[in-house]
Amino acid sequence: MPFFYFDPYYMPLTGAAAARHILDSAGATDVEIEAVPGHLTDHYDPRSKVLRLSQDVYGDRSLAAVGIAAHEAGHALQDAQGYSLMTIRNAAVGVANIGSGFGFLVFMIGLGFALKPIAWLGIALFAATVFFQLVNLPVELDASNRAKAQLVDLGIVPAES
Ligand SMILES: [Zn+2]
Repeated sequence: MPFFYFDPYYMPLTGAAAARHILDSAGATDVEIEAVPGHLTDHYDPRSKVLRLSQDVYGDRSLAAVGIAAHEAGHALQDAQGYSLMTIRNAAVGVANIGSGFGFLVFMIGLGFALKPIAWLGIALFAATVFFQLVNLPVELDASNRAKAQLVDLGIVPAES
């Protein structure tokens, strides 16, 4: 049973339709929307300019589905509008992934074999992960803020009273 089962709202649009509406209204008509398999696999790919929504979100009319789709559309808008923190985040994500996977291991190898440069490399990799997290948080909050503003402006959800 999907976790949105108890959602009190039944939205007029599916997640995909809401995202399309948001993107088009903001002039990001070149961004495509695709359904992808899996759960919570939703993401925006800035390289191919494609918004990928998980099947649950793509065709669902719950507030949760529309909220997730709008958040991801927010990332597409960040990209379209040249939001600089997102550019920094995208540049850091590769090293950060390596750092979170191998940073500690590299550090331990450096320590174990008394190889100072290797130990420092491990620390640098791990620091890249920390840096990514620090930059990522405001990017995520900004995407949600953009999403909220668009959902209200377009009348998809009512404004908070
Ligand atoms: Zn996000």
